[in-house]
Amino acid sequence: MSIQVENITKNYGSQKALNNISFKVNKPEIVGFLGPNGAGKSTMMKILTTYIDASEGHAKVNDYDVNINKQKVQQSVGYLPEHNPLYLEQYVREYLAFNAQIYGVKKQRIEDVIQLTGLTPEAHKKIGQLSKGYRQRVGLANALLHNPDVLILDEPTTGLDPNQLVEIRALIKNIGQEKTVFLSTHIMQEVEAMCDRVIIINKGEIVADKKLKDLREGQ
Ligand code: ADP
Ligand code: ADP
Repeated sequence: MSIQVENITKNYGSQKALNNISFKVNKPEIVGFLGPNGAGKSTMMKILTTYIDASEGHAKVNDYDVNINKQKVQQSVGYLPEHNPLYLEQYVREYLAFNAQIYGVKKQRIEDVIQLTGLTPEAHKKIGQLSKGYRQRVGLANALLHNPDVLILDEPTTGLDPNQLVEIRALIKNIGQEKTVFLSTHIMQEVEAMCDRVIIINKGEIVADKKLKDLREGQ
């Protein structure tokens, strides 16, 4: 099981960001997590990546419990946060090499992820010299470094211009051929462009969970 969420609730003080959420992702597929700002998407993703703990309920990634097996979960998941902190003065390779060292990943893998994410022509540059689209590629390359089975991408296409949008969507679709991709967005078009399935969240509750195929057929 790629992702298993059972009755997760998250309170920030008196604010309920997630209210008794459950869903499953069984196989490699691209699942869109759709909802307006403040719906609870980032909160769910931070729980699945072990950055924060749920108040109640259980969640597993690759069958590892996010509370019990944090390290195994971190090895199983690649994460692109919404506001990916990048050091603009750092070179692309330098940034990836630093993270490769943290993950204990072989140097060759850096070149592999550069190629995989289409970064080759820009990889010799400083991150500050790159367009938003290429910075997202750096974030994706970083998330892929340790070759995780599951990718969790928080608003990966927000703020991209139309050309970059087309390219990043294609790249994510390509990655989703082999890996489970769980991505958040507040735009239905993004789901239509990339996803096999959509889970819709509003005010901390799941309001729909459908295959795109069924949505198109009006079921
Ligand atoms: P989304 O990613 O869908 O925009 P978030 O998960 O970021 O939603 O936020 C869900 C709700 O929880 C929002 O009302 C937000 O203001 C609140 N929230 C998120 N993080 C915190 C936090 N660290 N402290 C207090 N409230 C938070
Ligand atoms: P994100 O959608 O990725 O959480 P934001 O810009 O909304 O990004 O939030 C930035 C940081 O502030 C996050 O760590 C989030 O958890 C926290 N945060 C969001 N909403 C609130 C809130 N209402 N009160 C306190 N912290 C918050």
